[in-house]
Amino acid sequence: MRQIVMTAPGKIELRQIERPEPLPHEVLIEIKRIGVCGSDIHVYHGLHPYTRYPIVQGHEVSGLIAEIGRDVAGLQVGESVVFMPQVTCGTCYPCRNGMEHICNQLKVMGFQTDGAAQEYFSVPADHVLKIPSSISLDHAAMVEPIAVAVHALARSGDVRGKKVVILGAGTIGNLVAQAARALGASKVLITDISEYKLELARACGIPLVVNTMHINLGEEIIKELGSDQADVILECVGSQETISQAIEFARKGSVIIVVGVFGKKPCVDLGLVQDRELTLIGTLMYQKRDYERAIQLMGQGLLNLDGMITHRFPFAAYAEAYQAIDESKGKYLKVMIEL
Ligand SMILES: [Zn+2]
Ligand SMILES: [Zn+2]
Repeated sequence: MRQIVMTAPGKIELRQIERPEPLPHEVLIEIKRIGVCGSDIHVYHGLHPYTRYPIVQGHEVSGLIAEIGRDVAGLQVGESVVFMPQVTCGTCYPCRNGMEHICNQLKVMGFQTDGAAQEYFSVPADHVLKIPSSISLDHAAMVEPIAVAVHALARSGDVRGKKVVILGAGTIGNLVAQAARALGASKVLITDISEYKLELARACGIPLVVNTMHINLGEEIIKELGSDQADVILECVGSQETISQAIEFARKGSVIIVVGVFGKKPCVDLGLVQDRELTLIGTLMYQKRDYERAIQLMGQGLLNLDGMITHRFPFAAYAEAYQAIDESKGKYLKVMIEL
């Protein structure tokens, strides 16, 4: 079978390997879609601090069950599935307390251990979730980033009836905004400095979009959300500027969720966090219940995902997909690889 390997930053090779056999507790999945995400591109550019080369990427994936290990029950060949790409130790404090997603030894397939950029991929059955037949393989491949969004929102508690501001309209910011609406937020406002990404957000049904290059965010929040401002602010960029905005434009008692991954250590005004009794909360990946919730929201037709897929490439053109991303100069959102 074919497999794609990133041998070094910027170097992508197609190679032939043996098709894997599932272990007794595993399921062999025929991979059908692989979404490329921002972290994959960081690996491609040699800018991901926690990865190794060679690495097989692929963690936003959907496929069909091809074979079932002998100890696996409840799954059938031919079923549409997704899987959670986390590899955890099972013995550390977070693992023993229901927080495997922040395992002390956490490895993520596609980064610290090989991912699913291959025709068949074997994963433990307890990481696999079934997808209803009404959900397309394209959409199923987006369950992973939707679960990131759902988990981030869940970290603030219930968003029903709340006013939510999302800083950053990339894939995750867009999905956080869409999920916030689907989960019943009363108002959702999204910002970016890219008119292209804001247009996509608008096309996905998010009415309040603000380009912070041209518009003062503090004034806009009061204009659109009212003088009570935002209950929850989600920073989905990982930059000095946006985390500073989150703290500056929070009202007293707001909750700030830190979703973005910071390449550089930001310098923030903790004086405001203290004085305004802000709550600053981190979020990393997701738990099984977030995957289940993501699949549920998708099944209810509450998310506009087609509008987010801006590029498609066949598996054999994996390298071209990354070249196109580089050449697009930021004008892409979800890039989908098809098998
Ligand atoms: Zn991803
Ligand atoms: Zn652990």
